[in-house]
Amino acid sequence: MKIAIYPGSFDPITNGHIDILNRASTVFDKIYVTVLTNPKKECFFTKEERVEIIKETVKDFDNIEVTFYDGLLVDYAEKVNATTIIRGLRAVSDFEYEFQLALTNRELNDHVDTVFFMTSKDYSYLSSGLVKQLSNFNGNISNLVPQIVQDKLKEKREK
Ligand code: ADP
Repeated sequence: MKIAIYPGSFDPITNGHIDILNRASTVFDKIYVTVLTNPKKECFFTKEERVEIIKETVKDFDNIEVTFYDGLLVDYAEKVNATTIIRGLRAVSDFEYEFQLALTNRELNDHVDTVFFMTSKDYSYLSSGLVKQLSNFNGNISNLVPQIVQDKLKEKREK
C-alpha cells in the first residue's frame, strides 16, 4: 500500500492545494493531509480550525485522512508508515525552499522521499496569503477557495 503525507500550513486550504490532492489521490492508496506548525508563519486560523476546514473540504475522497502533528515531519511519516511526502510546486520561487526542505528530510530519514506535483496553470499564482489579503478587503475569492473557506474567513473576521 502506497501511503503519502501532504504536509503544510493550509492557512487556509485553497483550490491550489485541492488541485494537488486531486491528482495525488489517483497515485497513492492513502494520503494524510497533515497540518504542521510552521514557525516562520503566524497563522490566522487555529490548527483545530484548519483541520476542521480541510476535513469538510476533502470529505468526498475515500483515501484522504486529515491530521495534525506538532513535530518533525519524518517522525510522523514513520508513525503512519508513509514513504512519500507530497509537495506542490508553483513558480521558480518555490523551488529553493522546497529543495532545501526535501534534502533536509532525506538527510533525516532516507526511507522517506519527496514527490512534487506541478501546479495547474490556473493556480500558479495562488497562495493562502493572497486569499487572506483579498478577503481582508472583501475581494472576490469564490474562484480561489471552497465555499467553507469563504464562510469561515467571513465568520472569523466578523467576530
Ligand atoms: P507551508 O507552510 O508548508 O509552505 P502551505 O500550506 O503554504 O504550507 O503549502 C503546502 C504545500 O502546498 C507547499 O508545497 C506549497 O508549495 C503547495 N502549494 C500551495 N499553494 C499551491 C498552489 N496554488 N499550487 C500548487 N501547490 C501549492
